[in-house]
Amino acid sequence: MSASIIDGKAIAQETRERIKAQVAELTFLPGLAVVQVGDDPASTRYVSHKQKDCEQVGIYSEKHHLPETTSQSELLDTIRGLNARSEIHGIIVQLPLPNGLDSHVAINAIDIRKDVDGCTTANLGELVSGNERLVPCTPRGTITLIQSTGMTFEGKKAVVIGRSILVGKPVALLMLNRHAVVTLCHSRTPDLGAEAREADILVVAAGRRGLVTGGMIKPGAVVIDVGINVVEGKLKGDVDFESAKEVAGHITPVPGGVGPMTRAMLLENTLIAAKMQAAGD
Ligand code: NAD
Repeated sequence: MSASIIDGKAIAQETRERIKAQVAELTFLPGLAVVQVGDDPASTRYVSHKQKDCEQVGIYSEKHHLPETTSQSELLDTIRGLNARSEIHGIIVQLPLPNGLDSHVAINAIDIRKDVDGCTTANLGELVSGNERLVPCTPRGTITLIQSTGMTFEGKKAVVIGRSILVGKPVALLMLNRHAVVTLCHSRTPDLGAEAREADILVVAAGRRGLVTGGMIKPGAVVIDVGINVVEGKLKGDVDFESAKEVAGHITPVPGGVGPMTRAMLLENTLIAAKMQAAGD
């Protein structure tokens, strides 16, 4: 039997509508500032998506486009200036930064209450402690997609492939916080197939096209493919969709799965940040 396809686009659309309704009820406008340094075309595209998404739900956004030659102290001044502005509730520093700029220092200069990417050491530490305040967008979207299938976490075996600080580790922690039994796999895991085949929930975020095939999936599992690989101009995931859909119970497509949810989760984080700041948190 073929798996149900998890429609990330539709779930993201529902999420945006919910956010739009909540924004309309506020007595103030939530504000997001995106800082881009240099002219990387992919970054320019992502930033314009973020601004368009904000516009759709009624969130104010502004772009701070700094030249490639920006120094670390100029970048930090920009971030601190945004930290000080009460009408800006969320700040994003678009990565990657040009060579010579320290992204770790830049990200950690963001006021943690405005860290809508959830990437400051403080917010990641909160996640480790089991306090979910502002959580990274892709992991948050991944949890929403899993929940959309009716799958629960408590006592379930969850396997995450990929241990990056932006995706794999936070996804694993979010599932652990929800009482799943989590295994975190990476490039040095000796037998990936054996681990993956145990999973009721399998999240793949390695950036390796076709890494996971149908034979590595437990029948009926929920499979979330975070991977994005550009193959001959087309987006492909880390999961071999054709073989995987014959075994999985639910599976995300690429494109149209995790990507749209990541975008929607940034809006949700901005709304959460705005409400927290308005409440004086
Ligand atoms: P990364 O390169 O920082 O981390 C990749 C991880 O995968 C590493 O921990 C590595 O150990 C593991 N890995 C690599 N090869 C492996 C192998 N053969 N077997 C097992 N593990 C292996 O990447 P990232 O930032 O975590 O992103 C992962 C993928 O997700 C990329 O394709 C990226 O483009 C995609 N991504 C998608 C979204 C989205 O919105 N859809 C968001 C972020 C990242």
